[in-house]
Amino acid sequence: MNAQQKHIQVEISRSAFADNIHFLRQSLAPAKICVVMKANAYGHGLEHLLDSAIGAGADYLGICTNDEAATIRRRHPSHPILRLRTALPDELEESVTQLHVEEMVGSVAVAEFLAGHGRRRSSPVPVHIKIDTGMGRTGFLADDQAGMTAVCGMDGLRVRGVMTHLPSADGTDLGSTRDQLEQFRETMSSLESVLPKDVLVHSHNSAASMRLPELRGGMVRVGAACYGVRTSSHFSNPPELRPVMSIKTRIMEIRDVPEGRTIGYGSLYKTTRPSRIATVPVGFGEGYPRGLFNKGIVLINGQRCPVVGRVSLNVTTIDITDLSGDVRWGDEVVLVGRQESGEMTFEELADLFGGVHTEINLMAGFYNKPRYID
Ligand SMILES: *Cc1c(COP(=O)(O)O)cnc(C)c1O
Repeated sequence: MNAQQKHIQVEISRSAFADNIHFLRQSLAPAKICVVMKANAYGHGLEHLLDSAIGAGADYLGICTNDEAATIRRRHPSHPILRLRTALPDELEESVTQLHVEEMVGSVAVAEFLAGHGRRRSSPVPVHIKIDTGMGRTGFLADDQAGMTAVCGMDGLRVRGVMTHLPSADGTDLGSTRDQLEQFRETMSSLESVLPKDVLVHSHNSAASMRLPELRGGMVRVGAACYGVRTSSHFSNPPELRPVMSIKTRIMEIRDVPEGRTIGYGSLYKTTRPSRIATVPVGFGEGYPRGLFNKGIVLINGQRCPVVGRVSLNVTTIDITDLSGDVRWGDEVVLVGRQESGEMTFEELADLFGGVHTEINLMAGFYNKPRYID
């Protein structure tokens, strides 16, 4: 039996996802667009969103694991796939022989491994050279001319792209990001004589694409923006980008509680007045972050109501003393999304406990059965 969940609705709008991609593609043209679908499409369900991404014009799909690539390959045998991290040796083996993922190359060792495969099958393996301009996790250091030149000259490889990744494009100050992009450009001009003319140059994640579109290069790699979330409070997304996921539940009990009573595990909240407490059948077992104790906010009747006390495994308590209008057992509670004129976004909820929107998307998708509403 695969019944729909009654106690929580994680709803995903494929049309919002497709519209977001359309919008990004139009506003960032002529750049190609790599729709980032790693981590099970940021928790939204790779398999369910895959065709919408391609239908909406994704030139590339960005993934991390072979499993994700295999999911794509089952339906799209030749659509370009880019791995957004360095592969492990056994991942590469499978990738070049079966999955045909374009790999990120940040060292001569990985390049040689792939070049060997390319020579054996007499067809060059497409790769993207990764340059570290400040993210500091992977890639050639920008001054490693020798390494990158060696990769460009390897028989058995085809350098399809040159890429970098920006660590602070969502920060207050874009100064360091501009410096990195400058360094990226300089590195590429020093490699100009060895790079193919049609090489794809890509550096921009969602935040950079929104904030520095003029420097976007030949392709952007956008995740957050496609799912309608923004990566920090230092900028707003254009209104055309709509959230793809929403999370709702319903009131399971309403109680009138006197002043001075404690609520929930650890007795972390004590009523300071006679209070009305609504309880919902959702907790961190449904992916509602435990860190939201005494901090979360939900929408009931379109109004904001605070989470009081601990978030339990499957139960959360909400103070509705100040709520106006009628509320009843079974009424809708919006955890993330819109209700009447109220809205709670993934970004705002994440900020309340020092998390990031993607964690909430991921957990909601992982712990529940999303419904694909259109
Ligand atoms: C995840 C990832 C992106 C997408 O980042 P968003 O901020 O979600 O747009 C882009 N590039 C690389 C290398 C990534 O790993």
